[in-house]
Amino acid sequence: MGSSPLEHGAALVLGGGISGLLSARELAAAGHHVTVLEAGSEWGGCVGSHAVAGLTLDSGAESFATRSDAVSGLAAELGLAAKIVSPRPGGAWVQLPEGPRELPKTGVLGIPASPWDPEVRRSLGLLGSLRASLDRFLPASVGTAADVISVSGLVRARMGSRVLERLVAPVVGGVHSADPGLLDVDMVAPGLRDRIRQHGSLAAAVSAQRRGAGNPAPVAGGPSPASGQTAKAGSSVAGLEGGMHTLVDALVEDLRSRAVTLLPGTPALSVARTAEGWRVKSVNGTFDAGLLVVAVDGPTAVELLEGPVPAIAGKKPASGPDVKLVTLVLDNPGLDSRPRGTGVLVAPQTPGIEAKALTHATAKWDWLAAAAGPGRHVLRLSYGRVDGAGEQPGGPGTDDDLLAASLRDAVVLLGIGISRESVVDWDVVRWPGSLPFAAVGHRARVSAIRESCAAAGGLAVVGGWVAGNGLAAVVSDTRQQIRNLTG
Ligand SMILES: Cc1cc2nc3c(=O)[nH]c(=O)nc-3n(C[C@H](O)[C@H](O)[C@H](O)COP(=O)(O)OP(=O)(O)OC[C@H]3O[C@@H](n4cnc5c(N)ncnc54)[C@H](O)[C@@H]3O)c2cc1C
Repeated sequence: MGSSPLEHGAALVLGGGISGLLSARELAAAGHHVTVLEAGSEWGGCVGSHAVAGLTLDSGAESFATRSDAVSGLAAELGLAAKIVSPRPGGAWVQLPEGPRELPKTGVLGIPASPWDPEVRRSLGLLGSLRASLDRFLPASVGTAADVISVSGLVRARMGSRVLERLVAPVVGGVHSADPGLLDVDMVAPGLRDRIRQHGSLAAAVSAQRRGAGNPAPVAGGPSPASGQTAKAGSSVAGLEGGMHTLVDALVEDLRSRAVTLLPGTPALSVARTAEGWRVKSVNGTFDAGLLVVAVDGPTAVELLEGPVPAIAGKKPASGPDVKLVTLVLDNPGLDSRPRGTGVLVAPQTPGIEAKALTHATAKWDWLAAAAGPGRHVLRLSYGRVDGAGEQPGGPGTDDDLLAASLRDAVVLLGIGISRESVVDWDVVRWPGSLPFAAVGHRARVSAIRESCAAAGGLAVVGGWVAGNGLAAVVSDTRQQIRNLTG
């Protein structure tokens, strides 16, 4: 394929994950001729699917946050309103060094709204709850004065290390696959520090956030931190009957009906500015367009754009952790009682367990339990996180090692016997670097990158690394960015 002539209104999207596909839809709706270049052979990026024991399962994202109507609105536009389902109530558990505890249902990112809530008190112990309640007497400036601060910095200063280690680290590990000491609190809990300034304490800020707007979505293969974490009635997350990947199927069908050109197996290799817009070289030729949307991961986006937008040179974000998901399909009626609700998040200091989270998928989603049939269960265990030193400690590496580790971990986490013979089928999915890493200062860096890109004209940068992890953040931010681009 040679250089394509620049059609009037031509728009190019790089990346066919949810942000790229949604960008293409918005651009086509605004009257542009859109082409999407995707490096891989499948559409949807982290919203993928795989087949295990004859069941079609989500291989990445499996739910979305209901703190806004962003994802449910998109699903409804695509004809999927009737497929939106809530997970079974019951919430998740946390595995502490001294054993399993029910994860308190009244928090934001594991931070409790009340240190004396009985579930919180059970996890923290008396001393932990006493220390956490000091938060109410500290000046609002504690944890809010500095320009940037980590999740740990905020929680430790206001509520102490027990809240951090027993409640926040397991949830943050499950959601972001990283130690809370490394993550920018303004990126992973947007608005929380402003609410401390308004309401005087972290607990009050959490309460206000629960009344107003809720939590980031659970990501990286963990169970939902807990139901009831947002102000909306019911659960803080929802899913789609049939799996989240059905959203991608519907989006792709919609794009085809809008005559969008979809080119899989076409990685963008370089981007240049032209007199009329943008020129992208790929393995399959050169593409010209007036508008360009870059919807790939952060490191690749900065690499592609630092030539034509020199102001962003040197601002490449760190690559995310390598997440490995082990899916086990088991014939084990012992799991019918759903011993740990929708699953278990593991406190990092818990000895002897390598997984960071376990989702009991057939206990979480009724449609999946029905599809699996009586006595058959789907478990998903996730491995890989960035520790406090910014390293990824080695863990089980090969598929066989991961299978063995997942069986060992599932026995401890679920508190029931699971034999190798009960495994009907299993699979390992690897997501190398796919979870953007919101290191301290990330929000400021991302704002600077976006400003430089906007100044270049006809260019938007979208996706989880700029919007924040999770489908709710990605969908609403992408729509906003495309409105800015076309408006
Ligand atoms: C294991 C896992 C579980 C998750 N679970 C949840 C969940 O339950 N709920 C939730 O809300 N969120 C979840 N998330 C997060 C959510 O999936 C992401 O925030 C969201 O899907 C990101 O979409 P995106 O379009 O920004 O990026 P991606 O999905 O990463 O898409 C980027 C695309 O760009 C393509 N690409 C890369 N380089 C090039 C190139 N040079 N040229 C062309 N194409 C290129 C890639 O192949 C990819 O398809 C999870 C993420 C992971 C990894």
